Amino acid sequence: MTWREPALVVVGGGAAGLAAAVEAARWQPGRVLVLDQSPILSVGTCSLPYLVGGQIQDPAQLVLHSREQLEERGLRLMTECRLESVDLSNQRLHFRDLARGQSGSLAFENLLLTPGGNFDFPGGHLPNVISPRDLTTSLKARAWLERAETRKVLVVGAGYLGLELAEAARFAGKQVTLLDPGTPILNLVAPLQDTLLRELARHGVELRQHRLVGWEGRELAVAGLLEDGTRLECDLALVAGGISPRHALLEGLPLERGLHGGVRVDRQGRTSRARVWAAGDCCEIPSRTGSGSVYLPLARPAALMGQAAGAAAVGRARPFPGCLSCAAVKVFDLQVGWVGELGSQRYLSDGPLRAGYWPQAGRLQLCLGFCERTGKLLGAQAVGSGEVSSTLQTLGLAIEQGLDAEALAQLDHVYTPPISGMWSPIARTVRSSKRWA
Ligand SMILES: Cc1cc2nc3c(=O)[nH]c(=O)nc-3n(C[C@H](O)[C@H](O)[C@H](O)COP(=O)(O)OP(=O)(O)OC[C@H]3O[C@@H](n4cnc5c(N)ncnc54)[C@H](O)[C@@H]3O)c2cc1C
Repeated sequence: MTWREPALVVVGGGAAGLAAAVEAARWQPGRVLVLDQSPILSVGTCSLPYLVGGQIQDPAQLVLHSREQLEERGLRLMTECRLESVDLSNQRLHFRDLARGQSGSLAFENLLLTPGGNFDFPGGHLPNVISPRDLTTSLKARAWLERAETRKVLVVGAGYLGLELAEAARFAGKQVTLLDPGTPILNLVAPLQDTLLRELARHGVELRQHRLVGWEGRELAVAGLLEDGTRLECDLALVAGGISPRHALLEGLPLERGLHGGVRVDRQGRTSRARVWAAGDCCEIPSRTGSGSVYLPLARPAALMGQAAGAAAVGRARPFPGCLSCAAVKVFDLQVGWVGELGSQRYLSDGPLRAGYWPQAGRLQLCLGFCERTGKLLGAQAVGSGEVSSTLQTLGLAIEQGLDAEALAQLDHVYTPPISGMWSPIARTVRSSKRWA
């Protein structure tokens, strides 16, 4: 590959940055430069909890593309280079080359900012209070889990990441307490949440619903302190608190912000400054179903937004339609997922995934939420002992198409006892309610 003056400099080689850079390099091979502070790019971040627990043994398995493969796709990589400041007026970046211990600067024609979100958490100065969010911190957490002296693990935050880390710590044979101030967990409706809580209890995870206010211990944390004065003793704390869009790097930049504090971008990733684009967890993204913007710190929205921004930054329009909020998490033998936001009119069903008499029929609890005024589907939640993603995918399409309960009841699907039942969980859910008939 012949490298030429970059048409685009991408800061951050994570989900958004690499998707953007690969897309831009399709049109401008050899003219896209990616600058990242990490030594290794293209890491499957979403599988890190399984690296922590040891379900995935070899960290190399999580490197999706090698440096050579990325270079073959037309990207020039500057790894171990931390961006320190951006001079928008003079279109210059100032960075620190971490490997050489030197500072440097470079000019940009177009700049795409994808440094991710902010993970600041209390207790981060203590070596056994860790927030696994990249290869380094995940391998550190794993090393602590592998120590025989690490017996009690406190997982802080019961979002999808906290649930995955609780499972990881149980997989490593530890005593696990999961701490979360909020009910309901994952915002699930009560019957679905009850199933989730039973699954956690069945696998030995003790759930404490309290707020953490600090840590006890000087060089090492020995207990988490709760607001009611209780101490939760631990040998290791894994923190999976929330993420915010306020990355320190972007704080001083005169870029317009949205309601949630993220950089405001249009459907092509354009910020309020000419020649400056942004994508990923530092941004709010245009809503798929409405006119406003949403903050969805997830990998797919980041990558899709990145692709749109990467194309636009080199003059190729590829507008991003927005994303529905949809996600799923495996919690031991359960799968839990959701799409959209539940409306006020809710239908619920609980039944087999396949023909009920089939030996491994599985179960799926499904809650569908409709708009009281229009009758259209707004959102869904699912908890099942089998795969939930295809049901949620169908429901995502149904939301986009504006389907109502009657249309959902008529959806066609395959029927064969070992694979799926005569009545799909979706049809069963709407038929179980008299409100639409
Ligand atoms: C442990 C974990 C599990 C997750 N699991 C899921 C999941 O199952 N499903 C899902 O959809 N989402 C998941 N996510 C969220 C998902 O990974 C993020 O939403 C996504 O990676 C955001 O992409 P991004 O490009 O905005 O940021 P990132 O992927 O975080 O990339 C940001 C990049 O910028 C670099 N950077 C930051 N500051 C600087 C600087 N000053 N100079 C140079 N480089 C810099 C970083 O090194 C990093 O490479 C998970 C996140 C974590 C941490």
